[in-house]
Amino acid sequence: MSKKWIYLFKEGDTSMRNLLGGKGADLAEMTKLNLPVPQGFTITTEACTQYYKDGKKINDDMFEQIMDYITKLEEITGKKFGDADNPLLVSVRSGGRVSMPGMMDTILNLGLNDAVVERLSEKSGNPRWAWDSYRRFIQMYSDVVMTLDKKNFETLIDEMKTTKGIKEDVELNAEDLQELTQQFKAIFKSKLGSDFPSDPKEQLIGAIKAVFRSWDNPRAIVYRRDNDIPYSWGTAVNVQMMVFGNMGDTSGTGVAFTRDPATGEKRLMGEFLLNAQGEDVVAGIRTPQPIEQLKEIMPEVYADFIRICQTLENHYKNMQDMEFTIEDKKLYMLQTRIGQRTAFAALKIACDFVDEGLISKEQAVTMINPRNLNTLLHPAFDAKILEKTKPIAKALAASPGAASGQIVFTAEDAKKWGELGKAVILVRLETSPEDIEGMKAAKGFLTVRGGMTSHAAVVARGMGKCCVSGCSEIIMDEANKVFRLAGKEFHEGDVISLDGTTGKIYEGEIPTKEAEIVDEFERIMDWADEFRVLGIRTNADTPQDVKKGRELGAEGLGLCRTEHMFFEQSRIDAFREMICSDTLEEREEALAKLLPLQQRDFEQIFEALEGNPATIRFLDPPLHEFVPTSEEDIKKLAKTKGKSVNDIKDIINSLHEFNPMMGHRGCRLAVTYPEIAKMQTAAVIRAALAVQKAHLDWEIKPEIMIPLVSEIKELKVVKDIVVKTAEAEIAAAGIDLKYEVGTMIELPRACLTANEIAKEADFFCFGTNDLTQMTFGFSRDDAAKFLESYYEDNILESDPFVKVDQKGVGQLIEMAVKLGRKNNPALHVGVCGEHGGEPSSIAFFHKLGLDYVSCSPFRVPIARLAAAQAAISNK
Ligand code: PEP
Ligand code: MG
Repeated sequence: MSKKWIYLFKEGDTSMRNLLGGKGADLAEMTKLNLPVPQGFTITTEACTQYYKDGKKINDDMFEQIMDYITKLEEITGKKFGDADNPLLVSVRSGGRVSMPGMMDTILNLGLNDAVVERLSEKSGNPRWAWDSYRRFIQMYSDVVMTLDKKNFETLIDEMKTTKGIKEDVELNAEDLQELTQQFKAIFKSKLGSDFPSDPKEQLIGAIKAVFRSWDNPRAIVYRRDNDIPYSWGTAVNVQMMVFGNMGDTSGTGVAFTRDPATGEKRLMGEFLLNAQGEDVVAGIRTPQPIEQLKEIMPEVYADFIRICQTLENHYKNMQDMEFTIEDKKLYMLQTRIGQRTAFAALKIACDFVDEGLISKEQAVTMINPRNLNTLLHPAFDAKILEKTKPIAKALAASPGAASGQIVFTAEDAKKWGELGKAVILVRLETSPEDIEGMKAAKGFLTVRGGMTSHAAVVARGMGKCCVSGCSEIIMDEANKVFRLAGKEFHEGDVISLDGTTGKIYEGEIPTKEAEIVDEFERIMDWADEFRVLGIRTNADTPQDVKKGRELGAEGLGLCRTEHMFFEQSRIDAFREMICSDTLEEREEALAKLLPLQQRDFEQIFEALEGNPATIRFLDPPLHEFVPTSEEDIKKLAKTKGKSVNDIKDIINSLHEFNPMMGHRGCRLAVTYPEIAKMQTAAVIRAALAVQKAHLDWEIKPEIMIPLVSEIKELKVVKDIVVKTAEAEIAAAGIDLKYEVGTMIELPRACLTANEIAKEADFFCFGTNDLTQMTFGFSRDDAAKFLESYYEDNILESDPFVKVDQKGVGQLIEMAVKLGRKNNPALHVGVCGEHGGEPSSIAFFHKLGLDYVSCSPFRVPIARLAAAQAAISNK
């Protein structure tokens, strides 16, 4: 038996969303609820996938089913395709599993041709409507199916309006529209070399193919990637009998939300246009009237509509976004879907629905898209102004938030200008640790290079500042403090605006709204905590960040990158002295300067954690991020170390690596220089002892984490140093202190040999940034350069540094967890790569049964909510 590619609305329901797409499933559900839905059928998302598999062809079997369902629809409606006396006219609309507003294509009034329109015009006594519908159809079909530029038609309409001395399309009369139709057909023929198709079946097949094709248009590709929608889902196609809102002043069309999508307030929000078709409302050519005015104009229709809104909201238990058409005073529902809303509205609606007894707390938690919380936790641009502002470029949305400011090109300038009270945006080829002070002073960062786990991205997320990275369109001239973008030059002091939530860059200033935490946020977060199984920790390198993470709900510290503690100007010098030492004595001398700094930081971190777990990772500096590069810094270092500038340059040259990310970093540093591990252990243990002494009611148990381990013996060597040093410190202090030694799992070899490694480790924490880098062999810093082509060619659907690659990297993690726990049942396991704050990755980590995820402070609420949703959906 052949596969069923098509379902009548009567045959489906809302549970068939994956197969029928959101629109199809909801049209079916409304049919089931006996609401006034013009009937039709849905060609499944599987048919779309098949269309692509067959080389963009509708196969014979599918074709026959389409013909068969036209006959069925003719029977249901009592109308016939191409019958001049009683024509069946249809709309053909896309509908993916989740709605992608405006991304794919729609065709209305299909089935019209010269014969049908003539007769329709006579019979209906409404020739204006008939010709208006026909000219619209030709316009849409030419644009969507034949990809003929819309402008061709718009120009003709404008010319006609000018000749007639009128302003609005509605003022065009039947003759004008008839004339326009002829002109449209002529332009169709001249541009495409054939007549406009008159056979409705041919029109329909063309339209269906166009909707399938629109799944793969550039707009849709970008939207899918931004919204985590897999390519493999495909779109369904809905073929529905037309009803007409353009039949005169007793007809119209509109859209409405059951609650205010901006504030969440409980009130119907909507607008409509009389004598119009759907696209007029969307296109904004005429100004629609508020829905309340419908009450005056057609009270019965309004009452019907209110009743339907209530039915739908109660039925779906969610705010609905609906499209309707009134054809000669009769109301028809064309669509209902879960309405898009601001983060603020989402929280309010969820809480109100619980308070109104419509849903449970569990349902409320699942109603909110975790990623939308970003707009609550960070400043955002004024939505109304943003709508009207065109970006000059788009790059990686590396850290959410929005900022406007004057361009500066160096960290020093950022600091100087910041001190003068100016808002600045730091624009760099890439950032490095020496930019930290400037980054602190800037409102946001824009980099030419670097991916989603680059220095700029990671630091920005930690600071809660906005960052757009990897904007390779910028032609940068740092030396002359100027860059070119979008055909323009931007100088120091010029104002730009960055949206780190979307990756968009704008010229000039855009007003911003500050972050605002509302009561509803706390309520939803508390509910999320009731359901989640995964623990949530924060990545933080300073006591302030730890506090921020805890304020936002983190239950501990999951990753302290100790090399980040030396980013500050006052400390980086001592750190460089250590890196650029060429004897043990020199290094020990430098380490002795670092020890008290580290110890004080750790004490403050333990204090901020109040007895909650603390994972401290030992130094893992990719050397290229830390060696001095400027002549000035080199001179300074030479002076402190009592060496010549040339000696220092020689050392720097000897430190040069071709692949620093695969170089002398991580535990390799401690293997060659055990004194580094000794110093860090002493700093951690002394700090822990001090805080334990001061707070006997807390259990301070530092978790010392060794990075970049690939071989058990490597871990053993470093662990022995740690244990020996720690035991000596504890014995000398004379009080008891527990501590753990674990490792990051961030290399494929560590995953493959996790059974051995687990014997020496108290815990594993997956460094998914490096694990992704090392598994794909994609540089964390450079992958952005070629990933764009990978998305375009459908090789990858998303950035594997953002969403964990479940198939490859995920498999390694799963294996390592299993192997590790088998040999060490007490092993605790977490994730501290950037994926620990990304919802789809969190869902995956939940499934693998990890103990916790750790992410930067501002992502903690997102992680809490995503973890709760993962637990609920896996119940
Ligand atoms: C990682 O590799 O995932 C990680 C957390 O460490 P870093 O980003 O510091 O290399
Ligand atoms: Mg790492």
